[in-house]
Amino acid sequence: MTRQTSIKEALTMETDQDQETIVDLGAAPDGPAGGGVIETRRMSVYYGDFKAVADVSLNFASNQITALIGPSGCGKSTVLRSLNRMNDLIATARTEGEVMYHGENIYADDIDPVEVRRTIGMVFQKPNPFPKTIYENIAWGAKVNGFKGSKSDMGDLVQEALESAALWDEVKDKLQESGYSLSGGQQQRLCIARAIATKPDVILMDEPCSALDPIATLRIEELMLELKEAYSIIIVTHNMQQAARVSDKTAFFNVKLNEKGMRTGRLVEFSPTDQLFTSPTEKDTEDYITGRFG
Ligand code: ADP
Repeated sequence: MTRQTSIKEALTMETDQDQETIVDLGAAPDGPAGGGVIETRRMSVYYGDFKAVADVSLNFASNQITALIGPSGCGKSTVLRSLNRMNDLIATARTEGEVMYHGENIYADDIDPVEVRRTIGMVFQKPNPFPKTIYENIAWGAKVNGFKGSKSDMGDLVQEALESAALWDEVKDKLQESGYSLSGGQQQRLCIARAIATKPDVILMDEPCSALDPIATLRIEELMLELKEAYSIIIVTHNMQQAARVSDKTAFFNVKLNEKGMRTGRLVEFSPTDQLFTSPTEKDTEDYITGRFG
């Protein structure tokens, strides 16, 4: 059995590694039996010689929404992209430490990054549909990721994905129109549907509402709350109200000067969202959420 196979099988497996104690958290962990889907262990990310984030140990719970917040440049997107090896696509980027997915290090030599990105999908800041029809936006992604069913199976998959992304009713009569013909909010839901169609386990969202108006933003937030029944969601947001509205747990990052005077992002606090916003344990968190900086 290859490691690629076992990462798929891990979806249904409970591993002993999930029970391991996390070392050097520097903030409240999920606890040893936290039901984590992804766990970073002392993860640091460099761009060339620049250490962008240092020593991040976090345990992301299954079927919850975890928000990553903090001032611009503190490394939120860098951390998020490290969780599905998206940083591999940046030539200078290098990740140290471990990122465990159901107990398996996704950075191990024999792990296929393409499979990692299918299992741990991503939705980006700016909706980025393919220059194809609405139908093909879903079907093409699924085909590229190995979907082998019949045409009618594919039709079912497209419908299911669009329903899950709360878009079906709006597009069912125009599946052959371009994805670009949709509004910004609809395009973002199309991208969420595209991610869902590859049957991921985790969905990473990098400021998914920052290009959207308030009503489209609310639709996406409602959708996230529905999706967490089936998926684990990790979202980067610069919008603290959004983190407070949708997330179960929040990780606050801040920039600290390192020994060489370089600005490196660090995890300051990781707590249930209510607690982080009402009684943070760290002064930096309190200063940030009360608007004293950032
Ligand atoms: P945030 O998402 O919190 O705004 P980022 O993760 O985008 O922060 O950036 C963290 C740090 O890494 C910043 O100093 C940023 O300039 C740097 N950085 C981000 N992406 C790259 C890159 N591709 N090459 C070099 N430096 C980068």
